[in-house]
Amino acid sequence: MNSRSDPDCDYVYKVVLSGEMGVGKSNILQRYHKGIFTRISPTIGVEFLTKKIILQNGLVVKAQIWDTSGSERYRSITTGHYRSAVGALLVFDLSDRESFEQLSYWLNCLREHADEQLVVALVANKYDLVQSDPGARQVTEVEIQAFVKENELLYFGESSALSDRNIKEVVESLMENIHRVQV
Ligand code: GDP
Ligand code: MG
Repeated sequence: MNSRSDPDCDYVYKVVLSGEMGVGKSNILQRYHKGIFTRISPTIGVEFLTKKIILQNGLVVKAQIWDTSGSERYRSITTGHYRSAVGALLVFDLSDRESFEQLSYWLNCLREHADEQLVVALVANKYDLVQSDPGARQVTEVEIQAFVKENELLYFGESSALSDRNIKEVVESLMENIHRVQV
């Protein structure tokens, strides 16, 4: 989406959060946008947030990041939600095997409905849980790397919305990659 209508920003890129309910999507967005971690209602949330990012080349772009308000639980996300998305944060919970197993479902939805040039970054969230208790880990780094390779995803290492690990970095690297693909 090339937004010439916004005078102080050259490009607006739509990014969607995707993945099972409970993996931390809304908290990732809140952490990125406001720098905080709080309880968020699973069903009442923002539709999308925008944030300006300065790329490494100095260009200012706007990330328009779309959340889902619990509709992911019933697989009832409308196709319009994904339409014209050029980037996605595909999230799973390192302490929840099922959320990893379901990634293919969400990836298929994305590939089917989003922009043809969609760039997807995988987010392995809740690292804080497995760091404090290695027994809580349900997905290995080897499995993550294999999934990333097989599906041509971006991956920058484990994240935590709670402890603020690797959130800003993921979003901003995703934006760099989107811009490279889109221009
Ligand atoms: P969503 O359904 O994917 O939007 O997930 P939420 O952001 O609502 O988070 C679901 C639950 O996981 C909430 O209880 C959050 O407090 C918790 N949560 C989210 N991110 C993290 C994280 O990085 N670490 C831990 N320990 N809990 C998290
Ligand atoms: Mg949510």
